[in-house]
Amino acid sequence: MKKNKIKTIALIAHDNKKHEMVNWALANKETLKQYKLCGTGTTSRLIAEATGLEVKGYLSGPMGGDLQIGAKAAEGGVDVIIFFWDPLQAQPHDPDVKALLRIAVVYDIPIATNRATANLILKNY
Ligand code: PGA
Repeated sequence: MKKNKIKTIALIAHDNKKHEMVNWALANKETLKQYKLCGTGTTSRLIAEATGLEVKGYLSGPMGGDLQIGAKAAEGGVDVIIFFWDPLQAQPHDPDVKALLRIAVVYDIPIATNRATANLILKNY
C-alpha cells in the first residue's frame, strides 16, 4: 500500500446495525476525516447526515450496493471495509453479502464486521 495515497473506507450496515454504525462513525469522526468514505445507500446517507462527513453513496444494499462495493474492491478501489452485518436476521440479499465477504478475502482487504475490529483497524491505518 502506497504511504501517501488517501485510503478509501467502505461502510455498510444492515438495518439493525445502522444505529451502531452511526454511533461508531460519530465516535471516530476526526479519524474518518482523513479517508475517502463510501458506502451503501442508506448507510452512507445516515453517516453523512450525522457526522457532516462526505460519504459517496452507492445503491442500497438489497438493490445491489454490496455488489457495487465488491466490484470496486476487486478493482483496487477500496482499502478497508467496515461491514456491520446482522447475525440475527436473514437478509434478502444474503448472496450479495456473501459475495462481498468473499471478495474481501480474495483480495486480502481488511474487513471489520464488528465495532471492536473496526476500532483495531482504524488504529492501525
Ligand atoms: P443500506 O444497505 O445501507 O442501503 O441499507 C446495507 C445493506 O443492507 O447491505
